[in-house]
Amino acid sequence: MKPSYYSRKEAIRECAIESIRSIKVVLKDPEIEFNTEETVLISKEGQKTSLKMSEMSHQESELSVVFKTDTPLTLTESYEFSLTDDIQAPVMFGAVVRTPEFDETFFYDGQLGASYSKDETEIKLWAPTAQSVVLKIYDGFNEDSPVKQKIQMKQTERGTYTTVLSGDQDQLVYTFQLTFADGSTTESPDPYATAAIVNGMRSVVVNPETVALPGQKRLPAFSSATDAIIYETHIRDLTIAKNSGVALKGKFLGAIEEGTQTPTGQKTGFDYICDLGVTHVQFLPMYDYGTVDEAKPDVPQYNWGYDPQNYNVPEGSYSTDATNPKTRILEMKQMIEDYHDKGLRVIMDVVYNHVFEVPNHPFHLTVPGYFFRYLPDGYLADGTGVNNDVASERKMVRKYIVDSIEYWTKNYNLDGFRFDLMGILDVETMNEVRRVVDKIDPSIIILGEGWNLDTPLAADKKAIQKNANQMPSIAHFNDSLRDSVKGHVFYATEPGMVNGGKGLEKLVIQNMLGANGLEGYQNPNQVVQYVEAHDNYTLYDKLVLTNPNDTEDIRRKRHTLSTGIAMLSQGISFIHAGQEFLRTKSGDENSYRSTDAINQFDWSRVEAEHEAVTFFKELVSLRKSEPLFRMTSYEDIKQHSTVKFAEEGQIIFELFNDEQHYLISINTNEESRQSPFDLSDYQLILSNHATETEHFTFLPLSLSVYKK
Ligand code: CA
Repeated sequence: MKPSYYSRKEAIRECAIESIRSIKVVLKDPEIEFNTEETVLISKEGQKTSLKMSEMSHQESELSVVFKTDTPLTLTESYEFSLTDDIQAPVMFGAVVRTPEFDETFFYDGQLGASYSKDETEIKLWAPTAQSVVLKIYDGFNEDSPVKQKIQMKQTERGTYTTVLSGDQDQLVYTFQLTFADGSTTESPDPYATAAIVNGMRSVVVNPETVALPGQKRLPAFSSATDAIIYETHIRDLTIAKNSGVALKGKFLGAIEEGTQTPTGQKTGFDYICDLGVTHVQFLPMYDYGTVDEAKPDVPQYNWGYDPQNYNVPEGSYSTDATNPKTRILEMKQMIEDYHDKGLRVIMDVVYNHVFEVPNHPFHLTVPGYFFRYLPDGYLADGTGVNNDVASERKMVRKYIVDSIEYWTKNYNLDGFRFDLMGILDVETMNEVRRVVDKIDPSIIILGEGWNLDTPLAADKKAIQKNANQMPSIAHFNDSLRDSVKGHVFYATEPGMVNGGKGLEKLVIQNMLGANGLEGYQNPNQVVQYVEAHDNYTLYDKLVLTNPNDTEDIRRKRHTLSTGIAMLSQGISFIHAGQEFLRTKSGDENSYRSTDAINQFDWSRVEAEHEAVTFFKELVSLRKSEPLFRMTSYEDIKQHSTVKFAEEGQIIFELFNDEQHYLISINTNEESRQSPFDLSDYQLILSNHATETEHFTFLPLSLSVYKK
C-alpha cells in the first residue's frame, strides 16, 4: 500500500516548464520514491515525452528536481507531469515565459483590448499561459457593482482570447477571469483599457466619438528640440494653494482656468505659466496611478504619481468626477487643447519602468512572470528601487510600451514624453518609440532619465546615457551639469561650482557647450540641461544645506546664477516649476507623498521674488531671440564658441557668428573680478544683478551676458 497522502496535490507543490527543454518539479516529501526511468510528460492526446533527471537539490523540507527532455517541448500543448503511476500534476508555465522561444511562439502583433464600433465590440486579451479566460461584465460603474454576465472567451491565435459582443457596447464595464493549469484563478482589468471605473480595477469600453473634442488637432511641428524650454509641474501643485484664485483646484480643468489671481493681484495657474515664455509644459504623471483613493475626492491626498495602475487611462483624482469613466478623458484632452491654443506644448511623464503593485497589476494578473525581470533565484529584480523592473526587452512588453505611446500621441495630441528611469528600459524599445512617434510628428520630444541602474539587462542594451549614440533624437537628463553646478544630489552638503566647489570650471563649461565628449551624446538635442527637477532637494533647499550662513541676498545670487547657467547651456532647456521664484519645500528631500503645504505653488513667494522671476523671463527671451544659444550640432558649437577663461571660479566664453558676438561671464566667487579682456566694445544685456550692474567688473556670484 502506498501512503494515502500521495495524492498529486499533496505530493507536488510546483511543476513548471523552465525552458523549452526542461521542467522543474518541487516535491513536498524529500523521501518520496520514484523511478527516474518512468517520469514522463503526457500530452492531452496521451503522447508521452520521456524525461531525464538533471539536477536535484534539497530546500528546507522539500526536494527540487529539474528534468530535461531531448526533444523541445511544444509550448502550445498542455502537459501533465507523471512522477509515478499515481502521482501526476498539471504542468504550469514557469521561467520559460522569459525565453526567446516563448516570444517566438506567442508574439502577437495585432490589436489588443476593446475595438469598438456601433454594431459590435471585439475584446481581445493576450494570455498564452491561461487555460481559459472568462469575460466578466458588471452592472454599473461602482467598485462593488454586481456581475451581470459571464462569457467564455474563445482561444484565438498566438495565445490570445477573443469575444465579439454584438450591439452598441459603449460604457460596458468588464474584467477578465483567467484560470491556469493548476486551477488557480485571477481577475484582471484589461491591460489595454483606455477607460476605467473609479480606482481602476475594472475596465470600460468607450465609443471614441463620445470622448473626442470637436476640432481637436495637433499643433504644427515644433522646430528643433534645442529650441525647447521645458517647465516641469504637477497638476495639483499648480492650483491647490488656498490663495490661487482657481475654482477647480488640483484638477485638469483647474490647470487651464484663465484670469485667476491671488487676493493681492498676482497672476496664478495657467495665466502665470503662459506669461513665462516657456515652450513646453511637462506634467508629472497624469495617467492612472494607484496611490490616491479616487473615491474620496474630499479627503486631501497627495502623490506625485509614480505608481502606474492603468497606463492608458488618465488619473481619476484630477477629474471633476472620477466615477464617470469619460469625464477624465474629456477633461485631460480639454486641458491639452487649451495649452495648445496658447501655443504651449504638453509633455507627459510616463513610467513604464515599474508598476505600483505587481500582484494587482494587469501585467501580472494576465501573464504571470512575463512582464517583469527576475533574478536567478526567482525573485523580482529591483533596479528601480521600487520592487520591480518592467522587462521592456520582451516582445510583448515592448509592443505594449510602443502601443501605449502611440495611443496617447494620437488620441491626446501630446507633444512629448518624459521617460521615468529610462535606463531600466532597453535601446530597441526606445528606438521603436521614436519610430512610432516620428510617423505622427517627428518634432515630438522624447527625453528620459538614462541612469545606469542595477537591472538584469546587458550593459550595451540599456537605454542609458552611455548608449546615447545608439538612440539618436532621444534626450537624456544631464546630471553632470546639475551636479557640477550645485553639487551631487545624493550628498546633501557637497557643493558644486556656484556654492564653493573647487576645480569644476572645465567640467561646467564642457557641459554648457552641450556635453560634447561626455557619455554617448552625439548631438546637443540629446542633452537636457537642468539644475533642478521634482526629485531631490530644490536648488534653494540644497543651497541652504551647503551654505547655511549665506545671507538671503547671497543665496539668491547663487540661485539665479545656477538657473542662468542651465538656461544658457547648449541643449534642451529644462526648469522645475517654481525654480524661477526660488522654490523651497522647507528642506523636504523627497516630497512624493508630502502634504499640499510642501508641494503647492507658494504665490506669495512669486511676488516676493519677482526680480528672480523677471530674470528668468529675460533668460527665456534671450534664448528664444538668439539661435547661438540653441545650436543644433556639436560642429556648429565648435565653430561658433570660444572658451576664454575657465579657472579660479570663473568662466568666460564667447558665442559668435558673422553678425552677432556674445560674451558670457560666470563669476562664482564671493568677490568681484576685473575683466581680463577689454570690454569697451560690449554692452551688458543681461545680468542676475538686476539693479547693481557695473559694466566691466564681474560682480560677486554673477552671470553677465555682453553683446557687441
Ligand atoms: Ca488612480
